[in-house]
Amino acid sequence: MSEIKTRAVHKDPNHAAFVRAQGAIPGGVSSPVRAYGSVGGDPRFLASARGPYVTDVAGREYVDLVCSWGPALLGHAHPEVVAAVQEAAARGLSFGAPTLGEVDLAEEVRRRVPAAEHVRLVSTGTEATMTAVRLARGVTGRPLIVKFAGCYHGHVDALLAEAGSGVATLAMPGSAGVTEATAAETLVLPYNDLAAVEAAFTQHGSRIAAVITEASPANMGVVPPHEGFNEGLRRITSRHGALLVLDEVLTGFRVGPSGWWGLEDAADRESGGAGYTPDLFTFGKVIGGGMPVAALGGPASLMDHLAPLGPVYQAGTLSGNPVAVAAGLTTLRLADDAVYAHVNRVAATLSEAAGEALSAAGVEHVVQRAGSLFSVFFGPLAAVSGVRDYRQAQAQESFRYTAFFHAMLDAGVALPPSVFEAWFVSAAHDDDAVNRILEALPAAAWAAAA
Ligand code: PLP
Repeated sequence: MSEIKTRAVHKDPNHAAFVRAQGAIPGGVSSPVRAYGSVGGDPRFLASARGPYVTDVAGREYVDLVCSWGPALLGHAHPEVVAAVQEAAARGLSFGAPTLGEVDLAEEVRRRVPAAEHVRLVSTGTEATMTAVRLARGVTGRPLIVKFAGCYHGHVDALLAEAGSGVATLAMPGSAGVTEATAAETLVLPYNDLAAVEAAFTQHGSRIAAVITEASPANMGVVPPHEGFNEGLRRITSRHGALLVLDEVLTGFRVGPSGWWGLEDAADRESGGAGYTPDLFTFGKVIGGGMPVAALGGPASLMDHLAPLGPVYQAGTLSGNPVAVAAGLTTLRLADDAVYAHVNRVAATLSEAAGEALSAAGVEHVVQRAGSLFSVFFGPLAAVSGVRDYRQAQAQESFRYTAFFHAMLDAGVALPPSVFEAWFVSAAHDDDAVNRILEALPAAAWAAAA
C-alpha cells in the first residue's frame, strides 16, 4: 500500500517539478511560504489560472483561496485586465521615463484615498514600506521605528523583527543578516495594546520617527484592530511628533474602495466622529492587479521630501512600469461597489460555513474576519476569547490546520499553505466555485478534529 502511494507521489508532475526546482532555486521557491514547509507535501506548481480557479502542472484544477496572496481581486486573468496588459506591452515594455499611465494611477489612488495627495509608485510592498521608514526618519531626524509583533511589512531589515507571514510560518524571531544596530532601532510592541504604545513613547518619544502598523493585520491570521486602536495610534504619534504609517499593502483596495482606512473613517464619521488620517499610506497587491506595482502616498508636504524635490533618496529602474501600471489601473477602474459587495458576501458565506463545519466536527476554533479577509484559529484558547495579538495567534493548535489544508486540497480547494495567512476571495468566485468549497468543508473539518 505505502509502496503504491510512494510511486504515485513520484509520478506526480508537481513532485518532479519540486525536486527539479530545489536543484536550481533555494528551497525550490521564489518566496518561502510557497514551499508548503508548515503543511508538508509538494507545493502545487501552477500552469495557469482563470477566474476563481488555478490549474497545476498535473492538469488538476483547484478553487483558489490564495488569489496570488491578494492581488487577484477580480479573479485570475480578467479579460479586460489581460487586454490592457497586452495593449500596453505592444507599445513597449519599459521606458525608464515618465508616462501618463503613472499619473492616471496616482490620481486614481488619490481619488479613493484623498490623504494620499502625492503618490510615488514602486514595484513591491517591501519597497513601499522601506521608503516609508526612510522618509519618516529623513523628515523627523529620529532613528526609532515602532512596529507590532505579528505584523508583516515585507522583508525590510528594520521591519523583520517578530514579523508575521512567512517569518511566522517558519517560527523565526526575525532574520539572520539583520545587524544588531538595525534591530536595536526597531521597537516591537504587542498588537492592540495602546498602553504599551503610550509606555514606549513615554520612554523613547523624542527618538521615535514613526509607528508602522498593518491597517488591519492579516499576516498572523486575521486580527482586526480593536475599535479605536488606529485612532489611538494617531493621537499618540501626533502628540509626540512621530509619523503614523498605515500599511495597506494587503488591505488597500481589497477590503473596500478606500481600503481599511476608508471603512474605519466612514464608520467613525457615521457615529459622529471626525475620522483619522495617517501621515503615510503604503499600498501594494491589488494596486498592481497581479503585476508588480506598489505605492507610497501622503500629503505633498511630506512626500515632497523624496528625491528629486527633497533629500530622501528613492528610485527604481522599473518603478511605474507601463505594463504593470496598465494592469493596476484597469483593475482599480473595474473594482466598483458591486465587486466589494460580492467579495464581502462570499467571505461571509465561506467564513460562516467554515465555522459551522468545524463546530459540527467538534473542533474548537474561532473564525476572525476583517471585511472580505478571514482566517481560522484553532484550539480552546482562541475559541474562548478570540485572538487579539501575535502571542495568542502563536498559541493556537496550528497542527490542526495541516490536516484541514490537505483535506481541502485533495477535494480541489487551494487554501493558503499556512495557518498565519488570510483566505482571499475574488469577484470571480461564483456559485459554482463557492459550492465546491462548501462541499469540501465538512470532511476537512473532520480531518482537523482527528
Ligand atoms: N505589507 C503587508 C501588509 C504585506 O502583507 C506585504 C506582503 O504580504 C508586504 C507589506 C510586502 O509586500 P511585497 O511582498 O509586495 O514586498
